[in-house]
Amino acid sequence: MIDGALARRLKAESRTGAAIDSIADLIFIIVAAIKIIPELSIPGWLWWVIGIVAITQIIRMTFLYCKERSSSAFHDTQMTRAITKMEKEMKFCQSCGMPLSDEVLGTNADGSKSTDYCIYCYKDGAFTGDFTMEQMVDYCSTFVDQYNKNTGQNLTCCEYKEVLRKFFPSLKRWNLSTGSIPHADHPMKKVFIEEVNALGIPELYIDNLQVLPGSFINQPYTINGNTFPLFDDKAFYWGNQIEKEDGRCYGIACNEQYIVVSEYGKDGADAELVMIKRRCK
Ligand SMILES: [Zn+2]
Repeated sequence: MIDGALARRLKAESRTGAAIDSIADLIFIIVAAIKIIPELSIPGWLWWVIGIVAITQIIRMTFLYCKERSSSAFHDTQMTRAITKMEKEMKFCQSCGMPLSDEVLGTNADGSKSTDYCIYCYKDGAFTGDFTMEQMVDYCSTFVDQYNKNTGQNLTCCEYKEVLRKFFPSLKRWNLSTGSIPHADHPMKKVFIEEVNALGIPELYIDNLQVLPGSFINQPYTINGNTFPLFDDKAFYWGNQIEKEDGRCYGIACNEQYIVVSEYGKDGADAELVMIKRRCK
């Protein structure tokens, strides 16, 4: 009896251990009663007390046993229900197939969050790029390492493309008829492209921009001896990268307030700011 209490106190109990312990206690009590009771001269009223205590204990133990069984059954069904619900509610971007969480939801024309598309695919009520499904497969297949990491698989790029080709036809975007696609391009994109090309920076000419997360383009810039990141990690920018003849690159990032042009070497090394142009609003 004490060993059970000790185990419970030390949180070292197991369900089987507790059951065996209770049974052993019960056998001990029964044997003790059979052996000892006839040796004692017990008055009649004490028999009544012993009887009442015994019945109460039996009722209590039966009740606890039933309660534990039904509660574990209840927890099991609750868990199954939660998982099914999660699976049902687990949403994927209906364009690129990435899992949709609140942080990456795209935006509708009225600024509200899109429930169907991610911000990389859909911004201000329009698709950010004019992709065919096969082009989207090509683009997404570059994230094969991330997919392998998340799923514990070890697919090659080609195998992953096959997975995507099977998955994408179930997504909304690839079932839209051409005429019903909101716009193939975001209206602001053209404006930004024209403004960037009008900056007159040598070798800098762009014909496209993609939606890029700030965290992706952020690198420390040194200005007047102070190093600081230029972009908001949580914001999204229209951006592009252009290779220069000397092997370095121009990086372009635009939002409603600014156009930022920087220059850097391989993997963003030695980043320098070329120009920040404040856009009039
Ligand atoms: Zn997407």
